[in-house]
Amino acid sequence: MIKEIEIVCPPGHQEDEEVLKKLVASSLNITPQKITGIQVLKRSIDARGRRVVYRMQVKVFVDELYIPESYTRQYPDIKNAQPVIIVGAGPAGLFAALQCIKLGLKPIVLERGKDVKQRRRDLANINKEGLVNPESNYCFGEGGAGTYSDGKLYTRSTKRGDVTRVLKTFVAHGATTDILVDARPHIGTNKLPQIITAMRETILNAGGEILFDTKVTGLLADFGKIKGVQLASGDKLMAGAVILATGHSARDVFEMLHRQNILIEAKPFALGVRIEHPQEIIDRAQYHCEYRGPDLPPSYYNLVEQVDGRGVFSFCMCPGGIIAPCATEANEIVVNGWSPSKRNNPYANSGTVVQINLEDVAGDNADPFKMLNFQHHIEQMAFKAGGGKLVAPAQRMVDFVEGRLSAGLPENSYLPGTKSVELKEVLPGWINERLRRALPAFGKKMKGYYTNEAILVGVESRTSSPIKIPRDKETLQHPQVAGLFPCGEGAGYAGGIISAAIDGINCAIAAGKIV
Ligand SMILES: Cc1cc2nc3c(=O)[nH]c(=O)nc-3n(C[C@H](O)[C@H](O)[C@H](O)COP(=O)(O)OP(=O)(O)OC[C@H]3O[C@@H](n4cnc5c(N)ncnc54)[C@H](O)[C@@H]3O)c2cc1C
Repeated sequence: MIKEIEIVCPPGHQEDEEVLKKLVASSLNITPQKITGIQVLKRSIDARGRRVVYRMQVKVFVDELYIPESYTRQYPDIKNAQPVIIVGAGPAGLFAALQCIKLGLKPIVLERGKDVKQRRRDLANINKEGLVNPESNYCFGEGGAGTYSDGKLYTRSTKRGDVTRVLKTFVAHGATTDILVDARPHIGTNKLPQIITAMRETILNAGGEILFDTKVTGLLADFGKIKGVQLASGDKLMAGAVILATGHSARDVFEMLHRQNILIEAKPFALGVRIEHPQEIIDRAQYHCEYRGPDLPPSYYNLVEQVDGRGVFSFCMCPGGIIAPCATEANEIVVNGWSPSKRNNPYANSGTVVQINLEDVAGDNADPFKMLNFQHHIEQMAFKAGGGKLVAPAQRMVDFVEGRLSAGLPENSYLPGTKSVELKEVLPGWINERLRRALPAFGKKMKGYYTNEAILVGVESRTSSPIKIPRDKETLQHPQVAGLFPCGEGAGYAGGIISAAIDGINCAIAAGKIV
């Protein structure tokens, strides 16, 4: 007999086979000895009641052979196959490369940054010296912006099959099978580099190529058809399909397209600050207890409020996390967040941002750089307000709402340092005002949230791309350049690791139809 049931498990025992067997046996009214296997299908924390529990959907095998699924990396040899050029080794580019191999095509991945190991030195320089290498930073390099992220793997994508496929690929490259069952799966910054390295090995072993320190500076096209790419070194590389997966921070790529008269468009995005609380405050609110204890993971939140016709919302919440300096050029401040797999830092942070539509920003909507220029301006203002060396302007939460400079700032996780500044000096009035009104409203939804123990750090500005690269809905090719596949977050078709990976797969499938 094979049956699917739901069980409720006390925290701390969700991975204990003996406990699960007893719970299942009692639910099915059989002896635990009759159970030959339990496959967990879904696992989530239910903190609605006074007692926090795990709810688990499980498949139970009774007197039946249970063979757990194995996740292997089997890819064909494509050394001599037709080439597809993939620009960018972020999640979109890497998953596009793996899919090309499956389709019998040879991916040639071009990445301006360094491999994961060498990239670490540049991140240390950013955090310790406040120096940004414009080719190697938190956004550029092997694995893209996803490598040193939290590795949260939830998505609004509704196609479960696509999501599972991406998650299984991560497992085949070293992620734990937990990500296949957890309602809010995440990998963690410490584990992502090994997984990305394993993906690189898969691509190289199959006969694909990955070239680091290789920046694309131009597209080669003839009569509206892609022919290849021009590299910063002066070299040219030829192929009948180019997947452009360069992320939302490659401003020079947008400029390159515009220079070559290839259509790009201004796109709405969201901008605000990163907010950090002591993790205990979030745990107390979500788990209704004084102390979380060792059996529950650090808790998260998800807050949203409409203020004057615009959404104000929390974004990319990192329990037990660190605020990261994610600028890609000198003289700008951009913050984001990450956490290690155990999420064991004492702080909880999230981007807290206001939706910005085209009409909110002065200028001509037909100017593709209108939103990007606005984004860049705010990032430079933040840099100036911090006083240099990536010191970020910051303010305590209640001080921000009540309009006073913070006399001192709480300890926080942002390594380059914070400076007490009135954030209204950095944020435009219409963003500042909406944030001011949203924060006390969030406090009403979540006990303890609205507190001067929380710090606002400016600015969270790279929430999604401020530019869209158009493409045909069916063929996924640029309307003016056949064979050019705008892909992933930078082109406006993804908003996180999973959706970027799915878009990479889809672009590779579309490219396979024309080469
Ligand atoms: C600190 C941080 C934390 C994050 N946390 C999460 C999270 O927990 N969960 C989540 O889902 N998302 C998270 N994100 C967002 C996520 O990383 C991105 O959505 C995702 O990486 C987008 O994938 P992509 O492949 O489209 O682009 P990217 O990851 O941006 O990759 C683009 C790549 O293209 C390369 N490139 C750019 N220009 C060129 C050029 N001219 N030539 C050659 N190469 C070029 C870049 O170097 C880069 O490696 C986080 C981002 C950051 C910065």
